[in-house]
Amino acid sequence: MKNITITIDVEEDCPPMLTSTRGMEEGLPKLLDLFKKEGIKATFFVTGTMAKQYPNMIHRIPLEGHELGCHGYTHARFDRMKEEEARIDLKQAGKVLRQFEKRLVSFRAPNLQFPRNYLQFLEEEGFLYDSSIAAYKPPFPRSRVEGKIIRIPATITSSFLRLPPALFLPLLKRSKAPVIFVHPWEFVDMSDMPIRLDCKFNTGEKALGNLKVLIRDLKAENYHFLTLQERANLEKYK
Ligand SMILES: [Zn+2]
Repeated sequence: MKNITITIDVEEDCPPMLTSTRGMEEGLPKLLDLFKKEGIKATFFVTGTMAKQYPNMIHRIPLEGHELGCHGYTHARFDRMKEEEARIDLKQAGKVLRQFEKRLVSFRAPNLQFPRNYLQFLEEEGFLYDSSIAAYKPPFPRSRVEGKIIRIPATITSSFLRLPPALFLPLLKRSKAPVIFVHPWEFVDMSDMPIRLDCKFNTGEKALGNLKVLIRDLKAENYHFLTLQERANLEKYK
């Protein structure tokens, strides 16, 4: 069975460069509408602060059959936190997010930066799965178990999906079960914003069009669209 996991990191617009939330207001509803129309499920890693600020939008995530995961409380980097700060951040985020979804088991750290010795704090908070590692960065990790946590890497970086689909689709299909990630703000036109070129190129309609092409192309090839916890249940770990 071929499968893909679409994940969405739900946060402010391109943090820490901006503090606006156009992605939450304009991008996130577009993504949810697209997934509903295509009948597919995804995993949304949401920060505690965005869940507090946009409760109606976050309610839609579990209501429409998606997985709600945790993306930290404020999108602060865990590799820059002391142990106690990391613990408090996870606790605060968990408290807010569990108001929307009692079964909160998946986590992704902001900037895909999560110290290995902090995995025990995820365990303490009841998380089972972590997607804070990137298969496209050295040492190119694969899925594995560390302590009690199953770590499932992201396959390719989000800006890659804003290149022409003819470029990224063949590469995506080379991976047996890719995990892709996008952000709500990528589906809002960011071309005039003071952010890095790789963050703003082809944002807005172009990005949404690419995601539609990706979904329809993979559906035509009978891919299954699985949430992170669904695929973790299917994979075998040594
Ligand atoms: Zn993020």
